[in-house]
Amino acid sequence: MRLLLANPRGFCAGVQMAVEVVDQVLDVFPDEAIYVYHEIVHNKHVVGRFRSRGVRFVETIEEIPEGSIVVFSAHGISPAVRELAKSRGLTAIDATCPLVTKVHSEAIRYARQGYQILLIGHADHQEVIGTRGEAPDAIQVVETPEDIPHLRINDPARLVYLTQTTLSTDDANIIIDALKRAFPMMKEPPSSDICYATTNRQHAVRQIAPECDLVLVVGSKNSSNSVRLTEIAQNVGTPGRLIDDASGLDFAWFPTGNETVLVTAGASAPENLVAEVCRTLLTRFGGTIEQRDVFEEDIEFALPAALRRVMSERGIDSNRAIRVGKPEVTAELYGAVPLTVSASHRERSA
Ligand code: SF4
Repeated sequence: MRLLLANPRGFCAGVQMAVEVVDQVLDVFPDEAIYVYHEIVHNKHVVGRFRSRGVRFVETIEEIPEGSIVVFSAHGISPAVRELAKSRGLTAIDATCPLVTKVHSEAIRYARQGYQILLIGHADHQEVIGTRGEAPDAIQVVETPEDIPHLRINDPARLVYLTQTTLSTDDANIIIDALKRAFPMMKEPPSSDICYATTNRQHAVRQIAPECDLVLVVGSKNSSNSVRLTEIAQNVGTPGRLIDDASGLDFAWFPTGNETVLVTAGASAPENLVAEVCRTLLTRFGGTIEQRDVFEEDIEFALPAALRRVMSERGIDSNRAIRVGKPEVTAELYGAVPLTVSASHRERSA
């Protein structure tokens, strides 16, 4: 079997930051109960690891005892949730990804300027709920082109669209084109709201999948960007399977055992799960791994200000950056596998 490993894959800087926030909060407050509002990132293994360390995940702020510590997840929250946490005297550490915060800021700015905002995304996703909460009277969610005739537009010249950060670029473009046809005067955001990690992981699949028999995406079912990766594979004509981990593999998917398989991972899936999938396939079928470098990512985020403040007060270094670069195929994770690295399609990340 020939395994092609997509680079980039797996953890983005926003997820890495959110995971490190919870790890750090556990270290800084060893004797306190730590609450996280919603899943910190959409991956059952990451959430399970924190649960086993005593972290309590809640779906409403009212579940959290007054005066406790709460971490807001990477997907962002509405101002109403922030206010409620404040009114209950919670110490809030906000692990919202800065690229989600950027979309919130755009929503606030356009709403103040009197624009109606068409937010392209999934209405029930935490990120969209949070963004919508910034300007509920100005924002309407558009999930598909079929929603367009039902929009209530006051002035087509004061209209702008924004998007959820983890959409399929293919699907978003279909909706954006339909909106532009319906509202030719609609304004565009200054830059794409679909984040670098989503765009790069999708582009890598789009580029490599056509030479493969199957695409395996490691990620959880509620991870929007992971689901989108399987759809992108299918869009280019290669079947895609989404699996949480190696236990989700079905060997019947590989009738000859000589298939070429692209392995990638959503932005919230840890690298050890990708390695476990590769080890399981190579143990069963034998073969090689080729890492395909499509984009070089090297992104840094800072820890949230509230956490840095608490860390400084306790004499803990709070200035280190959260950095995500190329995932390494180490012997520790992957075992002794025959590995080659191909950079023939390499591009620099935007
Ligand atoms: S997928 Fe994009 S928006 Fe979401 S946490 Fe990662 S970098 Fe941030």
